[in-house]
Amino acid sequence: MWTTSGRRQFFQTIAATTAATTMSCEQNEDSGGPTPPVLSDPLGVALLGLGSYASTRLAPALQLTKHCRLTGIITGTPSKVGEWQNRYAIEDKNVYNYENMAALIDNPDIHVVYVVTPNHVHAQFAIAAARAKKHVWCEKPMAMTPEECQSMIDACKENGVKLCIGYRMQHEPNTQTVIGYATSKPFGAIQKVEALSGFSGFGSSEADVWRLKRAMGGGALFDMGVYAINAARYVTGQEPVRVKTARQWSERSELFAEVDEWTEFELEFPAGVIASCRTSFGENLNRLEVSCAQGSYFLEPMQAYEGVSGEASDGTQLNLTVQNQQAKQMDDDALALLEGRELLVPGEEGLRDLRILKAIEQSASTGQPVELT
Ligand code: NAD
Repeated sequence: MWTTSGRRQFFQTIAATTAATTMSCEQNEDSGGPTPPVLSDPLGVALLGLGSYASTRLAPALQLTKHCRLTGIITGTPSKVGEWQNRYAIEDKNVYNYENMAALIDNPDIHVVYVVTPNHVHAQFAIAAARAKKHVWCEKPMAMTPEECQSMIDACKENGVKLCIGYRMQHEPNTQTVIGYATSKPFGAIQKVEALSGFSGFGSSEADVWRLKRAMGGGALFDMGVYAINAARYVTGQEPVRVKTARQWSERSELFAEVDEWTEFELEFPAGVIASCRTSFGENLNRLEVSCAQGSYFLEPMQAYEGVSGEASDGTQLNLTVQNQQAKQMDDDALALLEGRELLVPGEEGLRDLRILKAIEQSASTGQPVELT
C-alpha cells in the first residue's frame, strides 16, 4: 500500500513529467489536435497493478487474444517482476514501476496501459498513462468521483489517446442481446427492471482488504453495485432521471465499519420505469430481469465470468457462449483502436455511473430522492 509520502512523490514525478509530455504533444500538433500514437496489430498491452484480477483473469486472457498481447508490466512490487517475466516472456525493457512509468512514452512495444488497481488510484494512474501517450483501459468503477472521471477523460483527449472502462458485460453476447431488446422492443415497452449484483464474502481475517476501506473505493456499491447501475442503463437504453430511494446498511458492523455491506436503490427512468437494484458483500445476488408490456426476459447469472444466460417469456433461450469474456472484451477494444472506431464502453460510461453512484450515496444519507438531470 502507498504511504502518504509515496503518493506525494508520485504526484511530484507526474507534475515534473507533465511539462515534458505536454510539450511533445504540442510539438506534434499540426492539425489542431495531438497526434494519436502509432499502432500495430496485435497491440502491446501493459498491465498496471498485478493483483488478483490481473493475475487470474487478464494475463491468461491476453494469451487468447488475437489483436492484443501482454508485452509489459507496471508494478509497485519488485518481487513480482521475475515470475511475471518468466511466465509471460516479458522483456526487461518493458518492465516499469509507478515512479518511472512516464518513460513509457519512448516505448513502441506498449500501446495500451490497463489500470487494474484498487479504485482510489485509477485516476492518477490513468492520467499518468495518458500523459505517456498510451491508450488507457481502466477497470470498474472508473474512479472515486465524477470529477476524477472527468479529469481522466480530459487527460486522454489532451494527449490524443482513447479511454475505455472494463465493463466486460457489455461485450458478453447474451448481455448484448438484451441490450438490443431496448431498441427492438420484442416484448413491448419496458415497464420494470430488477438488477441484483453481489456476493457473500469476507471473514475476520480479511478486515484489512481494500474492498472494506472507504478511502480506497471499497464497499458493495462501488465494487458490485456498478454492475447493477450499468445494467439498469443498458437494458433500458436510457439515463435515469432520479434516484428515487436508497438505503445502505451493514450487518457485520465489525468488518463493515467504513463501507456498506448492502445498498438497495431505485432508479427512475423517463416515462416512470423503475429499476429496483440491490448489491451486497453479504448475499449472493446475480440476476437481471426486465418486465415489459407483452412479456419479460432475464439473465441469471447476469455478471459471472462464465455461463451468463437466461430466457425470455416466449421461450427464447439466451444461451450464446463465449470462450473467454476478458479476451473478447480486450480484442473488441483493440480492434476498435486499430480501426479508429469508437470504443464500446468509453470513459463517459464510467462517468455516468459514478454520477449515479454518488447520487445513491446522497439519497441514502439524506433519505430524500436525488435528481440526476
Ligand atoms: P487486488 O487487490 O487483488 O489487486 C490490486 C493490485 O493493485 C495489487 O497488485 C496492488 O499491489 C496494486 N496497487 C497499486 N497501487 C496500489 C495502492 N495504492 N494501494 C493498494 N494496492 C495498489 O484487487 P483486484 O481484485 O485485482 O481488483 C483490481 C481492480 O480490478 C479493481 O478496480 C476492481 O474493481 C477491478 N476488478 C474488476 C473485475 C471485473 O470483472 N471487471 C473483477 C475483479 C476486479
